[in-house]
Amino acid sequence: QKPTVVITGASSGVGLYAAKALAKRGWYVVMACRDLDKAQKAAQTVEIPQGSYTLIQIDLGSLQSVRDFVRVFRARGLTLDALVCNAAIYMPLLKEPLRSPEGYELTMTTNHLGHFLLCNLMLEDLKKSSYRDRRLVILGTVTHNPDELGGKIPPQPNLGNLEGFAEGFKEPISMIDGKAFEPVKAYKDSKVCNILTMRELHRRYHESTDITFSSLYPGCVADTPLFRNHYPLFQKIFPWFQKNITGGYVSQELAGERVAQVVADPEYRQSGAYWSWGNRQKKNGKSFVQQVSPQARDDERGVRMWDLSAQLVRPM
Ligand code: NDP
Repeated sequence: QKPTVVITGASSGVGLYAAKALAKRGWYVVMACRDLDKAQKAAQTVEIPQGSYTLIQIDLGSLQSVRDFVRVFRARGLTLDALVCNAAIYMPLLKEPLRSPEGYELTMTTNHLGHFLLCNLMLEDLKKSSYRDRRLVILGTVTHNPDELGGKIPPQPNLGNLEGFAEGFKEPISMIDGKAFEPVKAYKDSKVCNILTMRELHRRYHESTDITFSSLYPGCVADTPLFRNHYPLFQKIFPWFQKNITGGYVSQELAGERVAQVVADPEYRQSGAYWSWGNRQKKNGKSFVQQVSPQARDDERGVRMWDLSAQLVRPM
């Protein structure tokens, strides 16, 4: 029997190509997507073989939808051998925050809180699986880390003391640190939370469950639709800049392949690791375990993030 992987946001970009790469490796892929028609078409376009995938609806920007997803997944009698938290939104031009049905700022909800809840619920499914090598992988990014070249461009992420979470994260609050709304920072903050979540999962559950928890920076995938909400000119220049100036550019195929490696290949069975192929893509460049940013490796902050996120995702 094929091992089963759930991939969130598999309707485009890195998630779509990760689905394709894992199907090719013999995995059964559950594409967890908000728009099933779009996901179905995308799967056909990149020729993921029929019979190697299924679709289940999820809107990570709604905590109720995350719960519904898990219910449907279980009702269909599926087992879970790996989970990939990949979906994300990036909305750099927003002037005012968008809100989830719960009233939380939407970028942080979609990228972090929705996945935080999903990981906590689906940990039970992973525990039940008898697969020999279960993994939970969360997508990271270089922009989470101001110590890296790619992370130096302002606004830099800063969780502060998570004042915004502590105060309930609803109107008028829109940022985790309780400060003024800044959509680019909201994205970067959410990616710091993604890495903290991975590290806390590792610290809390690796020893007792033998599940591998890890993250990766797949490289700069400058032509995914992630940048669809940016200025059109940016969407033209950014891939060119990454290809010719920084050398950080990777194709969607390669990024998907890297995710598949971290999910399935024996070399990547290292829990708590953050994998990178570096900022400049060299031919046949090798991956390595990279240190994450000071805030993303701050265990105390990790515990606070965990406790406050758990409060925010609690059913109301
Ligand atoms: P895309 O925009 O191409 O893909 C994002 C996916 O997330 C889409 O399938 C999208 O669905 C889905 N999604 C968005 N909102 C929701 C929601 N509310 N519920 C369910 N699914 C949702 O971006 P990328 O492929 O570039 O990004 C994927 C991951 O890779 C992200 O975690 C990103 O942070 C990370 N990453 C990307 C880099 C890059 O350079 N592109 C670099 C480093 C990391 P829909 O198709 O319906 O919009």
